[in-house]
Amino acid sequence: MAKYSKAQWRPISINHTKGGQTSVRGLVVHIMAGTLSGTDSWFRNPAARASSHFGTGRTGALYQWVDTTNRAWAQANGNTAWLSIENEGKGGDSLTSAQMDRIAEVFAWVHKTYGVPLQVAKSPSGRGLGYHAMGGSGWGGHTQCPGTRIVKQLPEIVARAKRLAKPAAPKLAPFPGAAWFKRNPRSPLVTAMGRRLVAEGCSAYSDGPGPQWTESDRRSYAKWQRKQGFGGADADGWPGAKTWSALKVPAV
Ligand SMILES: [Zn+2]
Repeated sequence: MAKYSKAQWRPISINHTKGGQTSVRGLVVHIMAGTLSGTDSWFRNPAARASSHFGTGRTGALYQWVDTTNRAWAQANGNTAWLSIENEGKGGDSLTSAQMDRIAEVFAWVHKTYGVPLQVAKSPSGRGLGYHAMGGSGWGGHTQCPGTRIVKQLPEIVARAKRLAKPAAPKLAPFPGAAWFKRNPRSPLVTAMGRRLVAEGCSAYSDGPGPQWTESDRRSYAKWQRKQGFGGADADGWPGAKTWSALKVPAV
C-alpha cells in the first residue's frame, strides 16, 4: 500500500490495474476539463475506463483515488511508469496557487518515496514532474493536456517541492547564561551541550555531563575554547555567549 497521508483517501474499486506500478519515473500533471466532484463520480463509472492516482480542487482539496502501487489509467502507454495527478479546471486555465502547493506536496512525497529527482520532465524517457502532452501519440495524443499555461507553471511547482523536501534546520537553544550552568549541572540542555562539545573534539564532558563536571573538565573546556580562538568569558571553562553560538546546541 502506498498512500500519501495528507490526501483524502477516496478509493475506487474499478478503472485501474491492481499492482503493476513497479517503476516510477515521475508524476504527470493533467487538467480535468471539469470539476473535482465530477471527476470523482466519473472514475466510479465503468464507462470511464479512466482514473488517476491523485486529484486537486481549485481551492486546495487533494484526493487520492488509486494506491500508487496500483496502475491508474491516465496516460495510455505512460501508465506503466508514471503516477498521475488530475487538476480541476478547464482547458487553457492556469493552476491556482493552492493547486500548485498540493502538486508540490505530492511531488515531494513521490521524490521521497520513489527517489524521483525534483526536476521538470520533458519526455516519457525523462524523470521528474511531467505533463500529459509530453507523451505524444503514445500517451493518447492529448496535446492540450494540461495546456501551455500550466506547463509554464511546472518549474515553480518543482521549486516549491524542493523547499518542502529540504530538511528543516534544527532549532537551536538560546544561551541561558554561564551562571545557569553552575546551578543546573544535570539539565538535559547540559547533556545536549556536552554532546556537541564531544563532537567538536573537546575532551570535557566525554565522561558524561552533569555532576561529573570536574575541575579537569573545566580546564579541558577552557583549553578547547582558547584553541577555537575565544577569550575572556568565553575561555574560562564555562560557556560564554560566543562559544555557545559557535556550538549550535540543539533545543531540548
Ligand atoms: Zn491528461
